[in-house]
Amino acid sequence: MKGNGAIELIAVSKFYGSTQAVKSIDLQIPAGAYCCLIGPSGCGKSTTLRMIAGHEVISEGDLLIGDRNVTELPPVKRGTAMMFQNYALFPHMTCAENVAFGLKMQGVSPSDRKDRAKEMLARVQMEQFADRKPDQLSGGQQQRIALARSLITEPSVLLLDEPLSALDPFLRARMRDELRRLQQELGITFVHVTHAQDEALALSDMVVVMEDGIIRQKGTPQEIFNQPRSRFIANFMGGQNIFKGTVSESGPAGTLLARGPDSFFLPGFADGKAGEELEFTIRTDLIGLDETAPQEAQNGQIPVEITTVEYLGLWVRIVATTSDGKEITLMKTESEFRQAPVRRQDKFIAYWKPEHAHVLA
Ligand code: ADP
Repeated sequence: MKGNGAIELIAVSKFYGSTQAVKSIDLQIPAGAYCCLIGPSGCGKSTTLRMIAGHEVISEGDLLIGDRNVTELPPVKRGTAMMFQNYALFPHMTCAENVAFGLKMQGVSPSDRKDRAKEMLARVQMEQFADRKPDQLSGGQQQRIALARSLITEPSVLLLDEPLSALDPFLRARMRDELRRLQQELGITFVHVTHAQDEALALSDMVVVMEDGIIRQKGTPQEIFNQPRSRFIANFMGGQNIFKGTVSESGPAGTLLARGPDSFFLPGFADGKAGEELEFTIRTDLIGLDETAPQEAQNGQIPVEITTVEYLGLWVRIVATTSDGKEITLMKTESEFRQAPVRRQDKFIAYWKPEHAHVLA
């Protein structure tokens, strides 16, 4: 059985005049999941969120929330609440009044409102600020109030539009923890729009990557990061090197040997045809450097010259360039780097294990 907060979009489209911002997307978000919609600016993620909220009319398709078809229902009838990027707090009201506002609209009695607002303020650790006005709060505190205000009506779905983008990096990480904690405590569905990869990876049970009004891939953070379906997703999520090659001959059982500008083995890819062009990814932390040919003949390998060494604290970022100018990024932990330091202009063989290659569609 689906819970109250299960969401299903069936062939949902949005047209603004002749522009199609969302192109017949299908999406199922399980009840109680934390789902992030991510993609570059203009890909249609906010429009999708606003259609779920009911702040934007669905041009075509159907929206189900908890088994009810809510396509035509106004926002208040959907069991959803929305938290906006700029928090949209009422400046003339105290925090407690802001938080209780949704209950007032529902006709809840003043004493009940007060009690429930107090409880909700405690949940976001803001009880002591109940009587302050929003302009007497920091950005992070305002955000907690906005969160409490959107949760007071006990929605089954909370929709968040870039909720962390106005915060500094330190606060952003703290609020990220807070959002995840609240979502798990309340057990309701969160749908969160962001353009920040780290945010999507850190928060989500389910990441949905959009491009040009289309869902390009959905899956767990690990799936999206480690098995990006396309070059676009690999580049967008980051942490990957993309290689190209042409399949030339069969290698050992279950593998193919490809020789292009780069040569490599791909295990479990026996269906590839000779002459076929392939693209594959290798994570930046899974490429090694060796002074001679690597230990195992089966490893992917390519001669490089170090062109950049960048100290980042926990990590050292190394760029190694091949003779035909392809740049390969390697991330080494600082301790790995200290054990095997490299300098600009050093020459190495860059190598990787075949099982770390992920073939792109
Ligand atoms: P994102 O949130 O991914 O940045 P949006 O959903 O805001 O993208 O926008 C998707 C596309 O729809 C963009 O091309 C944008 O210009 C267009 N769009 C968004 N809102 C409107 C609107 N109210 N009127 C016309 N076009 C819009």
